[in-house]
Amino acid sequence: NDPSLQTVFSLVNRDGEEVRVVGGAVRNSLLGAKVSDIDCATTAEPHTIMAWAQEAGIKAIPTGIDHGTVTLVIDGRPFELTTLRTDVETDGRHAEVAFGRDWGEDAHRRDFTMNAVYMDAEGRLYDPVGQGIKDARARHVRFIGDADRRIAEDYLRILRFFRFFSQYGERLEEGDYQACIAAQASLPTLSAERIGAEMVKLLEGPFALKALDAMHQGGMLTGLLACVPHLARFARLKQLAAQLYLKPDLNLLMTALCIDVREDAERLAKTLRLPNRNRDAMMRMAKTVRSIKTINEQVLEQLAYAHGKETARDLVLLALVRRQIAPDLTELSMLLRDIALWTVPVFPLNGRDLIDKGMKPGPKIGNHLGQLEKAWVSSGFALSKGQLLSMARSLR
Ligand code: ATP
Ligand code: MG
Repeated sequence: NDPSLQTVFSLVNRDGEEVRVVGGAVRNSLLGAKVSDIDCATTAEPHTIMAWAQEAGIKAIPTGIDHGTVTLVIDGRPFELTTLRTDVETDGRHAEVAFGRDWGEDAHRRDFTMNAVYMDAEGRLYDPVGQGIKDARARHVRFIGDADRRIAEDYLRILRFFRFFSQYGERLEEGDYQACIAAQASLPTLSAERIGAEMVKLLEGPFALKALDAMHQGGMLTGLLACVPHLARFARLKQLAAQLYLKPDLNLLMTALCIDVREDAERLAKTLRLPNRNRDAMMRMAKTVRSIKTINEQVLEQLAYAHGKETARDLVLLALVRRQIAPDLTELSMLLRDIALWTVPVFPLNGRDLIDKGMKPGPKIGNHLGQLEKAWVSSGFALSKGQLLSMARSLR
């Protein structure tokens, strides 16, 4: 009963073609969890879907037309439609694909049993592999077919195995786990972007610690992250965030993993090909957190002024994780709530004001402004413009 999805069904279910939902959306609806992106499988070929969408005035993007993927955008939401395929030849990095019409074959070329359950327009479920519904409900991550062979077809599946474990967290198929560990040396053949995308989902998963722990025990985490991860710190962050009802974002999660060696933040961000803004944020946090020795309203306001309110909150969490501060959590939670409502003040002085007071234009002005701003921040943002200007007179 999702009207945008109904549009997909009515667009494609005709002329002998059929579309069914598959993957995460089916998995999550089986578990009663939130459904975000919807992936669909269809017998219709990409150019047919493109033509039908155009006729119907629906936006269609040929996101991966050679691989059989078209993205329909309906009410601003993306629906990824992939034509049923049969695998031809693979080298472990690139899959050759040919279109097919066989749902069973399409199911068997998917990675895990829980990912090969389909739902049609009437809400009927199809489980061609035969274990998908049961495994999804049991949150049991298990390869379809022989794990060694499936991994050799696409090494990304190693990471996906742990990523789904991080999201569902109940059970790893032991033999499959061993196969992943045994094949880890092939991970570097994957593009960093593909690795990064799976690792991000893994770190954000509710059972991330369990998944990271399993990887670490298999000796695969250090190489993957380009640093020795500090799982205890990561665990503590997850726990603190839960106690404070906060949802840590990716920068915070990753910084917690590598906080003890400052350069690791940069290495980790680079390895996972995170956008520069994530990398810079991580490096800044890793560097700044060490200066936090105590926490109170004034310290928090100063951090918020210097780094922004959200980063200030994250820095406090990291300082807690590193046990640099040990505040009462109830008090801290109130402080954090107050800072979220706080309006960051604006420094009341600029270069023009100093020139108007007779100071010669030049580089000294910036220097003086910097000193005055520092004094203003230390005063708890209390010094007025007039007071700052009279202080300016004593600066040379
Ligand atoms: P999410 O909810 O995070 O999107 P998902 O299961 O939908 O999880 P996607 O990466 O969106 O994962 O892929 C959609 C589906 O395509 C998967 O459920 C799986 O059936 C199939 N798939 C994706 N990547 C692979 C792969 N590397 N090997 C085999 N099948 C894959
Ligand atoms: Mg998906």
